[in-house]
Amino acid sequence: MNLILMGLPGAGKGTQADKIVEKYNIPHISTGDMFRSAIKEGTELGKKAKSFMDKGELVPDEVTIGIVKERLSKPDCENGFLLDGFPRTIAQAEALDSLLHELGTKIDYVLHIDVPEEKLVDRLTGRRICPTCGATYHVEFNPPKVDGKCDHDGSDLIQRDDDKPETVKNRLEVNIKQTEPLLDFYRQKGDLIAVNGDQDIDKVFNDITEKLGGSA
Ligand SMILES: [Zn+2]
Repeated sequence: MNLILMGLPGAGKGTQADKIVEKYNIPHISTGDMFRSAIKEGTELGKKAKSFMDKGELVPDEVTIGIVKERLSKPDCENGFLLDGFPRTIAQAEALDSLLHELGTKIDYVLHIDVPEEKLVDRLTGRRICPTCGATYHVEFNPPKVDGKCDHDGSDLIQRDDDKPETVKNRLEVNIKQTEPLLDFYRQKGDLIAVNGDQDIDKVFNDITEKLGGSA
């Protein structure tokens, strides 16, 4: 089962990824982890990637795709994989298709966890953190026992700048612009499966397994 997981920030991708990899026994491959392990292992491509990252530059596609290829060639991907955070562009999606072709396989499904933008704004702006112990809360979904105070140490909870409405809206807009063309690309290929992400975590996961055919 070769899967790509897509969804905007706050859509619950991480939670669903954990459940998917457990049920289908496939590795969760996120771009960040891939880069970190290539750099740690000191592969040629890892060194190249690091040289760009150290300069604060974007890693060029040819390097990124090479790292993806190295990762997908590892034995733990024999039964499949869950790609998360890659591809980000049509060019990367096309490169992924041809590298999978070289490896004698292909993408089976692209799972899109779909949550309306307004709901994502609510989810993301409701986050609060404790500056003392780092505990995270959500005003609606995971509120502290006393409004605005940390359960562990009573500190005043704060909202990170990243979670303020303007920043959140901008971040979502940027992401929507980036993902729309990719969703179209996979929709046209017939690989796209949209799942309603605006429901309970367990219901979302149920919908995913139903649409994947439930076979493990
Ligand atoms: Zn605290």
